[in-house]
Amino acid sequence: MARVLSIASSDSGGGAGIQADLKAFARCGAHGMTAIVALTAQNTLGVTSIAEQSPDFVRDQIRAVLDDIGADAVKTGMLFSSAIIEAVADELTGRGLPLVVDPVLVASSGSRLLLPEAVATLTGLLFPLATVVTPNLPEAQALTGLDTEDRAVLAQRLVEMGAGAALVTGGHGAIPADHLFDGRTHLTIPVPRHEVAATHGAGCTHSAALAAGLAAGLPLADAARRASAIASDAVANGLADIGKGDGPVHVL
Ligand code: PLP
Repeated sequence: MARVLSIASSDSGGGAGIQADLKAFARCGAHGMTAIVALTAQNTLGVTSIAEQSPDFVRDQIRAVLDDIGADAVKTGMLFSSAIIEAVADELTGRGLPLVVDPVLVASSGSRLLLPEAVATLTGLLFPLATVVTPNLPEAQALTGLDTEDRAVLAQRLVEMGAGAALVTGGHGAIPADHLFDGRTHLTIPVPRHEVAATHGAGCTHSAALAAGLAAGLPLADAARRASAIASDAVANGLADIGKGDGPVHVL
């Protein structure tokens, strides 16, 4: 069975973060493992507090998993601080594992999930290790500093910044689509626009499904197509009646 490690944070409401990752891994038939870098007290209305784990404990979790069980792919999600990113990059360097970096910056509810000073650490240390980075449109604009909705331009710049490939995701912007650029070829994956009130965890689900695809040995473009379909279905089946705010997506 394909083994996938998520290095990310917990969402107590069960909608995003490692909870979403584990559901997506299970949906893809992979064995999911976790190195939890922060705990969030969170529900569908937002994040009320964040408890960061120590970089050493993050290292311990990664080593415990990789030194015994191993992994066929890794994904990173909410990493919160520069100290955590430095520890993660150091632990992953030289292992040669397929790596999906989901550059989680700010929750839809508005809370910062990556400290402002850690953005440069993310791009400087983790992008060069990434097989593929998976920002949504606002994240891609923030990371590149480009004021455009042209996902091809954004993906190209993200690769120039050091990522192996870029998948700019999501239903944001005028034209909903996912766009993959691997340094040579552009692939646009159309996605339907869903008029639903439950999108919490969509990005985590997307990047986790992509990592599970790579772990199973799928070529990047095939893994991206499957991840788009899984994330899109999860939004279409979103649980709008769970909580008073933005309900969780639901992976079938
Ligand atoms: N909480 C955690 C732990 C996350 O990892 C993420 C996204 O990656 C979120 C919250 C934000 O989820 P959303 O923006 O889909 O509401």
